[in-house]
Amino acid sequence: MSTHDDPDIHRHTTRLTELGVDVVRVVYPDLIGADRARDVLVDHLAGACEHGLAFCRAVYHTSPQGDVVPVAGGLDAGLPDISVRPDLATIRALPWEPGVAWCLGEVIDPATGETVPESPRDLLRGVLDRCAEHGLRPVAGPELEYFLCERSPTGWRRYAEAPGNVYTAGRRGDPDGHLLRTLRHLRDLGLDVSMGNHEFSSGQFEINLAHGEALDAADRTFLFKSAVKELARAEGRLATFMAKPFNDEGGSGFHLHLSCESDGRNRFDDPSAPYGLSATARHAVAGVLAHAPALTALANPTINSYKRFGPDTLAPWLIDWGLDNRSAMLRIPPERGTGARFELRLGDAGANPYLLIAGTIAAALLGIHAGQEPPPPLEGYGYDTSRAAVLPMTLADALDAFEADAELTDLLGKGFTTSYLAYKRNEIERFHRHVTDWEFTEYAHHL
Ligand code: GLU
Ligand code: MG
Repeated sequence: MSTHDDPDIHRHTTRLTELGVDVVRVVYPDLIGADRARDVLVDHLAGACEHGLAFCRAVYHTSPQGDVVPVAGGLDAGLPDISVRPDLATIRALPWEPGVAWCLGEVIDPATGETVPESPRDLLRGVLDRCAEHGLRPVAGPELEYFLCERSPTGWRRYAEAPGNVYTAGRRGDPDGHLLRTLRHLRDLGLDVSMGNHEFSSGQFEINLAHGEALDAADRTFLFKSAVKELARAEGRLATFMAKPFNDEGGSGFHLHLSCESDGRNRFDDPSAPYGLSATARHAVAGVLAHAPALTALANPTINSYKRFGPDTLAPWLIDWGLDNRSAMLRIPPERGTGARFELRLGDAGANPYLLIAGTIAAALLGIHAGQEPPPPLEGYGYDTSRAAVLPMTLADALDAFEADAELTDLLGKGFTTSYLAYKRNEIERFHRHVTDWEFTEYAHHL
């Protein structure tokens, strides 16, 4: 049967037409978690489902500046295609763009019919399959911060510049109601966002997504970031999730709450164990600590990421954990029972949600397999280098640590690891060749 006659596709196109949707935007994440897409007229949706949409595989190897980076399977292979099929079960109408709906795309290599190693969604699926083999179902709750910027005569400046608006809502730190508008659009988009507030820095906001099954949480986070950026663009503004956009303000985190279920029960909870945390939870914490240097390569994926780390930042600096302690890299929030979980505060908002979630779950799973035990939790204020090791402080060091972590890279797959290292090392090379503003300011006058 041709998909043109497929009753399922017919049902979807009829429903879309009834909703007034005439364009489906098929989106999927690239290697850095940015959305790549094509707008498909609903009349041609059945054909897209039948044949797939062709994109050049080098979409995964393209730098933010638009250059194709030499990564295996791209330039060297003659720039072949990937094929992207709309997953009609994921269709959601865009509340701010009448007539248009978003739909996630499933990516395959048309030559083999297999997934491609660079596909972040498939990487996460692979890790979740490994968890399922052990009866574990990870549950993730993402919290992301971002800065909203407005045009200025010289570029971009922070929206509503005013100090001290941390943990506020309303017009005090948000004079034209950006957060309310955004929250409502995100809710109508079906992303299951729960709440938001002004964050510590001026022009900085935080929005939380409800916890959910890990792939669903990653999908919603991916669409959330795309939506916030798109909504800001529609107003002539810039929303940025980059880790540390300003010298005079702190950075933006992507705090990841994580637990594991099996048989419908939270496996991290154990009222009879120390701290009310099960052995599984302790092993998971130990795994994340043990693999933290490698994990930074995914959780903190840019040259800029490492400027967010440091003492007294509320972002981490040392590889440590603590009970309800925000100065630790990994915090155990006070809830137990169904709410027992850890909060990994390592990631910055610029992280690709699929890679951060996949890497964290992989590290936790390795700890669970090995039955690793964490050191005693941090007591008091952290950032004391006599008590814990420092995280990698550059992207280059993080990539080296990632490459050296055979257990983690085996679990994530060599295909992904090799591509990711090649892509990110190219970023470092380009940065080293570039003359920055800082150099001119520092040297030009006196030298
Ligand atoms: N902005 C901090 C970070 O970069 C986190 C602040 C908070 O605790 O919410 O991680
Ligand atoms: Mg926050």
